[in-house]
Amino acid sequence: MSRQKRYGMAVDTRRCVGCNACVIACKTENALPEGGFRDWIAQEVWGTFPDLTMQIRSERCNQCSDAPCVGACPTGASHVGEGGVVLVDAAKCTGCKACIASCPYGARYVHPDGHVDKCTFCLHRTSKGETTACAEVCPTRSLTFGDLADPDSAISKLLASRRHEVVKPEAGTEPNVHFLI
Ligand code: SF4
Ligand code: SF4
Repeated sequence: MSRQKRYGMAVDTRRCVGCNACVIACKTENALPEGGFRDWIAQEVWGTFPDLTMQIRSERCNQCSDAPCVGACPTGASHVGEGGVVLVDAAKCTGCKACIASCPYGARYVHPDGHVDKCTFCLHRTSKGETTACAEVCPTRSLTFGDLADPDSAISKLLASRRHEVVKPEAGTEPNVHFLI
């Protein structure tokens, strides 16, 4: 029996410079409409002047293991696909936005065609063994896509060797995008 895959991403906050190359690559690769984004750059500052720390993160859908957006969808448009990736079937989506309301991460938007859209971990590429468009172009190699269920994958080895965290763990959605700190 073949092993179940669990796709995830590691984002190295010590490498990311916030250049937006990942954001532009995603827009091009996935032909996103004007004003529509599947990934974005977040910046956070901690501390008291002059002891300040700034973290820059490339964020996207966390492809949560316990995804509230899937449960909230009344039509079955939001569903779990290969590698646990959360997908939207545009043909089944009525644009009711129940999924948008349930996502703690603001990872979805309404496409001008009326359906909801979000990151797919570039399944059209990754199901063939390629990496995501964002990871491909990142000039600082901040993004590592891979199979978290495979202990020998580059992402599993990276997570085993570095401290990491997820955004809003208190939301209880079990994110699969991990931020190396
Ligand atoms: Fe759903 Fe939001 Fe989690 Fe993505 S980040 S799987 S859209 S709840
Ligand atoms: Fe489902 Fe679409 Fe409604 Fe979201 S907007 S809950 S994907 S039908």
